[in-house]
Amino acid sequence: MSTTERLYYQDSRLLEFDARVIGLSELEDGQIGVTLDRTAFYPTGGGQPTDTGMLGDARVVDCIDAEDEGVLHVIQGPAPEVGDSVHGKIDWLRRLDHLQQHTGQHILSAAFVELFNAPTLSFRVLEHECEIDVELVGPTDERIEQAVDRANQIIWESRPISIRQVTAEEAATLPLRKEPARAGDLRVIEIGDFDLTACGGTHASSTSEVGVITVRTWERAKGLARIHFMAGVRVLADYRKANQTAREVAELFSAGRDDSPALVARLVEENKKLKRRVSELEQIACRVEAEELLHDKSQGAADRIRIIAKIFDDRDAESLKQLALALIAHPNTVAILGSRDGDAGRLVFARSSDAAGDMNALMREACSVIDGRGGGKPDMAQGGGRNVEKLSEAIELASEHLQGGS
Ligand SMILES: [Zn+2]
Repeated sequence: MSTTERLYYQDSRLLEFDARVIGLSELEDGQIGVTLDRTAFYPTGGGQPTDTGMLGDARVVDCIDAEDEGVLHVIQGPAPEVGDSVHGKIDWLRRLDHLQQHTGQHILSAAFVELFNAPTLSFRVLEHECEIDVELVGPTDERIEQAVDRANQIIWESRPISIRQVTAEEAATLPLRKEPARAGDLRVIEIGDFDLTACGGTHASSTSEVGVITVRTWERAKGLARIHFMAGVRVLADYRKANQTAREVAELFSAGRDDSPALVARLVEENKKLKRRVSELEQIACRVEAEELLHDKSQGAADRIRIIAKIFDDRDAESLKQLALALIAHPNTVAILGSRDGDAGRLVFARSSDAAGDMNALMREACSVIDGRGGGKPDMAQGGGRNVEKLSEAIELASEHLQGGS
């Protein structure tokens, strides 16, 4: 027999109560735990998070179910003495939220059983949404939405929810939705002509209090369907947020909210085409740029190797490579190119097929100068590094080695 009488078993809407302090303890983290002879505070358990509130002038930040030793109220603030009478007050909005999520879970889980004979194996109330793991064969959006529709139908029929204590023998004769997790007397929650399950949590007294249920997303996890749902006040908050997001996107197109998915899809498609076109134009521009760079180098040195060594600002790796390819389309040419691209230094070394030099070896050496990595083939290599300051040193080193033939 627990030392704490659990008032929340009888009444989920009891928010204030008086009790006597029967134990005080210091927890591992130095906080104070208070045990009362009776409490309306629900302690973390069964997938439902703890209630919070006030105990006298102290804040109750957590409640721990210590089973037979009662409920431990973790407080911050002035601690009472053993024997003191204290007044407890539960944070109602938090309790209402948990009550809606928890009762909503009973209804949604029962709908999955009714429609698809799919039991719920676990349940968690998380900060923004709730999760259930359902043994649903062949999960699809359609099947899940069918269960959501059924759950909302039950909610809007305002069915009564009642609690009764039964013995283990009585429980064995009842069509409970799942096997009770504990032996002995059971607390059974009945949702009028729809669901019967043993549970120690806080529930609504009518299904209508749950308001509405919605599923946000789902995925397959360990052979189960992990369903992310929310109920009641959370649905309204989430609707507001989703609506705001959708409207902000629509405003970018000066369009109606529900037209934006098609408009975004069109924009993505146009962007792909533009990228292809830009790439084609870049190749043409690089050919012209290569002509200009080579023009200055060509004076009186027709039979000698031409080294084009140059550093650019904000030129990405692809553009640098295009320029190198345009340069080495000309005979006797080596391109030693670098770019300061944001906080990275990029390098591309390439040579025409009739020019000498091992670009891979030169690249490895240059990359060690800029604290980076790179490599490739004897005629073409790429690399990059974080030490952008030393980019010109790396380029000079490569040019020198090339001219010296080493
Ligand atoms: Zn329950």
